[in-house]
Parts: sequence; structure tokens; C-alpha cells
Amino acid sequence: MNKGAYVSIVVPVFNEEDGLRELYSELSSVLKGIGKSYEIIFVDDGSKDKSLEILEGFKNTGQNVKIISFCRNFGQHAAVMAGFNSSEGEVVVTLDADLQNPPGEIPKLLEKIEEGFDVVAGRRMGRKEGILRKFSSAVMNIIISKLTGVKLKDYGCMLRAYKRSIINYLLQYGEKCVYIPAFASWLTGSVIEVPVKDNPRKYGKSKYNLLSFLRQAFDLITAYTLVPIQLISIVGAVFLIISVLLTGYLLSFRFFFGTPSPLTTFVAILLFLSGVTTFFIGVVSEYLVRMSIETRKRPLYIIKEKFERKNGDK
Ligand code: UDP
Ligand code: MG
Repeated sequence: MNKGAYVSIVVPVFNEEDGLRELYSELSSVLKGIGKSYEIIFVDDGSKDKSLEILEGFKNTGQNVKIISFCRNFGQHAAVMAGFNSSEGEVVVTLDADLQNPPGEIPKLLEKIEEGFDVVAGRRMGRKEGILRKFSSAVMNIIISKLTGVKLKDYGCMLRAYKRSIINYLLQYGEKCVYIPAFASWLTGSVIEVPVKDNPRKYGKSKYNLLSFLRQAFDLITAYTLVPIQLISIVGAVFLIISVLLTGYLLSFRFFFGTPSPLTTFVAILLFLSGVTTFFIGVVSEYLVRMSIETRKRPLYIIKEKFERKNGDK
């Protein structure tokens, strides 16, 4: 895979015209300072401003740049995956285009990779964000750490470094998994966080709002658990149990006291019918879930190393 570049920098870009030149020159000077070969991959995610034009301008700067442009906006995840796909480095670093992740922190991440970690994640210190944003990030962090079992302090920071092996796994299996950090953490136990600076957004504004946060949370929950589906069967079963109890009550009422109230009978029938329907919807959904897990093609396990001594070996 590695055709020269030691580190590939992947930058998703969506309407970031104001900061791109600054980012590019900062990145270049930091990377030159490291003294190893590098490539910078900009993925334009269907920007509607001058971003692509500016990126095209980088083509002739004699540096190792790759520019990929989407025909429309496919989202940050897709852009990062496209960047991974054409990356050649032994190490791949992702970074936002909005200068919130300072390029100056990249050497710190690379140091940790060299120490042997598979994934090095930036942890944003001193974040300057609104209270609502902070709150939703905190909720997301709790959800992710519960679901993936990997305890990071900051899952939302895109300033990360991955070893080639992890990138290959992500490319192979992670396409359907919308949340790269969670999947990467699931893949390997060898994850470490390093504190990085976090700048406020200098130009433009954030592409995300509360709604996209909710969508992401829902994506995650459905990607990692069966709880929402199992809830359907449980509700159905509860309905059924109540209807059975109610029927028992109605029968004994009839036996000892005469005709029971029609309303109670109606409720019993209603509960029974809706219980049956809900329960079987739950069962069908379980099958659907199994199928979707299958199509996600996640590996059953990942071997880190294998040792084998055959008969006759010394
Ligand atoms: N981005 C993208 N496609 C999108 C939305 C965002 O490529 O549909 C890029 C954006 O240009 C930036 C990064 O993803 O480089 C993070 O976006 P943003 O800064 O808006 O997110 P925030 O920092 O507010 O979480
Ligand atoms: Mg940002």
C-alpha cells in the first residue's frame, strides 16, 4: 500500500473557502517540519462556495496534494472514507478543515503512533462552545462509551491518527458504520487520547445542529444495540399477558356473577389483538436486524498476531 508517503492527512471540506489557504500553509509547514514524506488529501464534499476552486489552486504548488471532489454533498463521513480510500501513508491523520484542529498538534499524535498505539485520538482541551453543544457532546460521549465499551473522554474530535492496518479495516468493514471513531475503538484496544488545543471556528459556521446530533445518536444506538427492537417484542408480550389476565378475570366473573361489562371485554380483545400484532412485528424486526448485521459485514473477530508451532519445528 505504502508508495512513499509516510503520513496521509485527510481533510473533509464543505463550504470552507475562507480558511482553506491558511490551513494549507499551516499544514505544509508543520509537515515539512516533521521531515518525513507526506501527502495531503482534500475531499470536497460538494461545496457550494469557492472551496473547490481554492483547492484546485493547490494542485500546482509542487506538493504532495490530492484533491477529490464529490458531485454533491454526501456528508463528512463519506468524505473521510473517500480520503482513506486514496490514502497511501503508513499513518493516516484526519483533521477538520475549519482550523479548529490546529495542525501544530499533528507531531504529538505521530509520536504516540510511533510508541505503538493503533489509534491516537485528540482530546480537545478548553473548548469554546455553546452550552447546548457541550451538553449534546457530553450525552453522545456517554452513549458511545457505554455502547462500545471503550472509554474515551472526547469522541467528537476529528484530529486523529490511525495506523494503516486500522484504515484497511475501516475501508473493508466500516462503510456502513457512520461513526468512524466508535468503529475504530471497537476494532482495536490500542487507543490512546492526547490533549490537543481547540480553536474556536474562525470562519463560516458549524455544519451541524442539534438535529444532526440526535440523528447521529440514533445511528449509533441502532448500530450497536438491539434494545429498540427488543423493546417492541417486550411491549407486545406485556399487552398479551395483560389480555390473558383480563380474559381470566372476565371468565371467572361470568362464572360467578353473570355478564361482565362490555367495555372490559372490548379492552381485553383490543389488548390481545394489538399484543399479537406488536409481538410479531418485534419478531420480524429481529430477523431484519440479523440481516442488517450480516450486510454490515463486520468481522467476527480480529487477530492481532498469530503464533503457530508445527510438528517438526524447533
Ligand atoms: N464537513 C463535510 N461535509 C458535511 C459537513 C461537514 O465535509 O456535510 C466537514 C467540514 O468542512 C469540516 C468538518 O467536516 O471540515 C467538520 O465540520 P464542522 O466544523 O461544521 O463540525 P463541528 O466542528 O461543528 O463539529
Ligand atoms: Mg468544526
